[in-house]
Amino acid sequence: MKHWNLTALGFLLLSGLSQAAERPNILFIFCDDHATQAISAYGGPLAGIAPTPNIDRIAKEGMLFRKCYVTNSICGPSRAVVLTGKYSHRNGFRSNGDTFDGSQETVPKLLGAAGYQTAIVGKWHLKSEPTGFDHFEVLKGQGQYYNPGLLTNGEMINHEGYTTDIITDQSLKWLEQCDPEKPFFLMSQHKAPHGRWEPALRHLDFLEDVEVPEPPTLFDDYSGRSKAASRHEMGIADDMGDHRLMLKYSSKFTPAQFEKFDGFFRPKNEAFLAANLEGKDRTRWHFQRYIKNYLRCVQAVDENVGRLLEYLDENGLAENTIVIYSSDQGFYLGEHGWFDKRWMYEESFRTPLLVRWPGVVAQGVVNDRDLVSNLDFASTFLEAAATDIPEDIQGESLVPVLTGETPDDWRTSHYYHYYESGGHGVPVHFGVTDGRYKLIRFPEKEIDDWELFDLQADPLELESRYGDPALEEVQNGLKKELIRLRRQYKLPEGGLD
Ligand code: CA
Repeated sequence: MKHWNLTALGFLLLSGLSQAAERPNILFIFCDDHATQAISAYGGPLAGIAPTPNIDRIAKEGMLFRKCYVTNSICGPSRAVVLTGKYSHRNGFRSNGDTFDGSQETVPKLLGAAGYQTAIVGKWHLKSEPTGFDHFEVLKGQGQYYNPGLLTNGEMINHEGYTTDIITDQSLKWLEQCDPEKPFFLMSQHKAPHGRWEPALRHLDFLEDVEVPEPPTLFDDYSGRSKAASRHEMGIADDMGDHRLMLKYSSKFTPAQFEKFDGFFRPKNEAFLAANLEGKDRTRWHFQRYIKNYLRCVQAVDENVGRLLEYLDENGLAENTIVIYSSDQGFYLGEHGWFDKRWMYEESFRTPLLVRWPGVVAQGVVNDRDLVSNLDFASTFLEAAATDIPEDIQGESLVPVLTGETPDDWRTSHYYHYYESGGHGVPVHFGVTDGRYKLIRFPEKEIDDWELFDLQADPLELESRYGDPALEEVQNGLKKELIRLRRQYKLPEGGLD
């Protein structure tokens, strides 16, 4: 068993209250495919045109992490990592086709045993029914943006309305019935802004008259790297299809919803089809259509984050509730010409992490130094709840990092492993970063190559320096680190070839 962080323990003792009374509530707001580029607290070219004031409030009143990396950049696997604190090869959920083994130890089970009331509302995406929660209310698979069914403690219940709003409605209903004498752990997990990006009716007009700036790598030609990136099937130019472009719709609408939704898109779609755009003009239209709908979906998420924060304020819960905002991974918003995720390149490797914990985390802190991970969330929940952390959990508690006392031996490198060969043309790959340099291995025989990036000199990752004599020492060092981490995390020996 690991020891509690002394600062957190001191906080508990100094408060003069019993541990049981003082243990904080934990509100974990988890989105799907929400890139840091689309959160205004992270800055960047979209911050001014599509601000997210409610999510930003968590950063203003807490800590924002710039180097939060995932272990496997795809939906189901990331969720399994959060629940278990273990890499995919240890929790058994490597790719979206897998089924989560709900008999294993998870955070809700441990927190429940420690006296927490536990619930998950929204996206689950682990195929098997949730286990270990007092209450679950989850979308089937990916779910729809409109009129979702929610599997509610085993019974499918259909709802009418916009899914992002409904997930918050149901989260609030669960909070309303909680016993105020016991702490709660709520995972409020949105489907948004995962594709296919159907905005709320109230956001259809948002950004309509704005030309969203294109990322500088929208027309990336993938030279300067291994052939892996050039084999992608996630291009804004050619791979989006009619549903992602909103030329066709995915949700089952009510007649009233359909009238407004279709009334907005149909004339624009007809004009687009009549114009018969080609080449870069067509890609540029695709990009505008994609990014606007994505950012519209984010607007609904942000409003709903605001609703949850208001509920905490109005019910005297804000002071003793940790609020965490994150996503299962980052996403490409046109960078490298892409939508989707999966790659170890920064935009999908990095995920947002914002944490508010009054009295423990200082306000307005930007942590751009420490390498943290979704692997660490489980240990963090457990330590925050003053509960023992099982020995076989692979992540580290972020509590000392959050209190501003990052341990001297905190990780200086992070291991990544993507398993789902072929999805959107992305091959299996694994790698390591120290925050400055990144080494990626593509082992499949069609690629069989390495890439090495200097993120300081080449933040857009356009030029692999693998084999460059000037970086020989860096390359060898990272290879050794890769072997060391694979051993530490109990991957099979060898395996680099
Ligand atoms: Ca996802």
